[in-house]
Amino acid sequence: MKDISFEEFATKDGQLASVDVATLKKLLAEYLDHPWTPITDAQRAETCFLLDETSILNIPMPKTPAEEVALVNNFLNGMRKLFTPENNWTNLAMLDTSMDYCAQCNSCAEACHLFEATNGHELYRPNFRSEIFRRIYNKYVKNEPFAKWRFGDVDLTWKTVVRLGEMAYRCNMCRRCAQVCPIGVDNGLISRELRKLFSQEMGFAPRELHDKGTMLQMEVGSSTGLSPSVVQETVEFIDEDYSESTGFEFHTPWDKEGAEILLLHNAGEIMAWPENIAAFSIIFEAAGLSWTLSSELAGYDSVNYGLFYDDVQAARILAMQAKAAKKLGVKRIISGECGHAHRSLLHARIAEIPRESFLPLLRDLVLGGKLKLDPSRNDFPVTLHDPCNVVRRLGIVKPQREILRAICPQFREMAPNGVDNYCCGGGSGFAIMTRNNIENWRMNITGRKKMDQIFGAFSECLGPETRKYVCAPCSNCKGQIREMLEKGGVQEQYNIHYGGLVELVVNAMTDLNPGFIKWEEE
Ligand code: SF4
Ligand code: SF4
Repeated sequence: MKDISFEEFATKDGQLASVDVATLKKLLAEYLDHPWTPITDAQRAETCFLLDETSILNIPMPKTPAEEVALVNNFLNGMRKLFTPENNWTNLAMLDTSMDYCAQCNSCAEACHLFEATNGHELYRPNFRSEIFRRIYNKYVKNEPFAKWRFGDVDLTWKTVVRLGEMAYRCNMCRRCAQVCPIGVDNGLISRELRKLFSQEMGFAPRELHDKGTMLQMEVGSSTGLSPSVVQETVEFIDEDYSESTGFEFHTPWDKEGAEILLLHNAGEIMAWPENIAAFSIIFEAAGLSWTLSSELAGYDSVNYGLFYDDVQAARILAMQAKAAKKLGVKRIISGECGHAHRSLLHARIAEIPRESFLPLLRDLVLGGKLKLDPSRNDFPVTLHDPCNVVRRLGIVKPQREILRAICPQFREMAPNGVDNYCCGGGSGFAIMTRNNIENWRMNITGRKKMDQIFGAFSECLGPETRKYVCAPCSNCKGQIREMLEKGGVQEQYNIHYGGLVELVVNAMTDLNPGFIKWEEE
């Protein structure tokens, strides 16, 4: 692999590099490639495709020298703000550490699934992006004397700016690299702060996260576009449908004042995986919990895409979710099966109300005998995907395993797992993006390691005669794994299916008709 020089990064015209799909790391079993859709000349004339075959930020090609200068100046102004406590109290301390110390040991590269999937492509080396950012910081923000000799040089051209913006979106922000760094440098945080700079200071953000994400959620109540009245009608329909098919009649409570728990679902589940919504309701009702959903704006959608790209948007969404909880007077918010929602809810200071993951509660219900369970109903091979936000970022590792060991006789771990897990490939917002080869990119590259882990976990039973289940207790991870299984030909060829954790619990409940989990071929 030819290295890309910092000079080329700053000055080379056109697309900087290309990844040949045929050279990607071979997997343990057959998985379909997703060749790049060629970028047309018309697309290149309009949009900056200056990095690889993908464009996530859709930055328009500057048409005049003045527009080129504006890109550089806006970037530099934003970058200076990133390094001031009044403008970046959220992440400045960690960002400073990541600027000041790096031994250039490249341990982070060995930990990164993008770097591994591409057999070491320079574009996807975590510290390649960070080092460019670091050099700009020393030369243009800190104005260090003799910076180019002491810290290495890079020119801040409009191409450097555009390419860095895209580089911030060639990272799942999974922080696996940060975990292995001997010094504590966080390459994922550098990507996050770059994304923030481009959004808050330059007005560039992926439309799936911004226009169709946080903006839509604030306006309508959910990034799915579901309004409060439609969401209630849809869940009522789910209640009826699953009451009939399971023989267990239940009604999801709405806007119950003084309830103990406000359950926050990722509203995408309501549209794409209604069985997950039904399973939560069945478990909570069967266990006799005091709980409710909320029909307030954003009070029924735990999604907070601000977490991936913009502090201000993140705070606005969280304030709306907290307001919904306070209005009902609930004692705590419980986050359902959504990894990034776990982190945005649990980490933010703004909410001022106890917030918890559903996992310890579910573990207590399963192990505490609150539900009548027959593990033999789950007697098929099951493996567990660890969502980065829940496991590595929040340290919630054991409850999900205790549950699976109790209800799935053929549970087996992926290797590695727990805090050493690999991202599904859809993390940091990619799971919901499809345009400009983004889908091909995450199918080919970011999801490649996860696919290999799944093959590895089922290595002794890969044949189509055995149904297998990947438990992915996170909405975004489930979306990414669904696409890899379906579009990679894996479901068909190897009989590997996916779903959440609560579905497995309900599938084992003896109060219900058998067969809650519907396999695709049924
Ligand atoms: S592991 Fe840490 S110190 Fe080593 S190159 Fe990566 S960021 Fe720098
Ligand atoms: S945060 Fe994850 S995806 Fe990003 S550079 Fe580090 S290991 Fe790679």
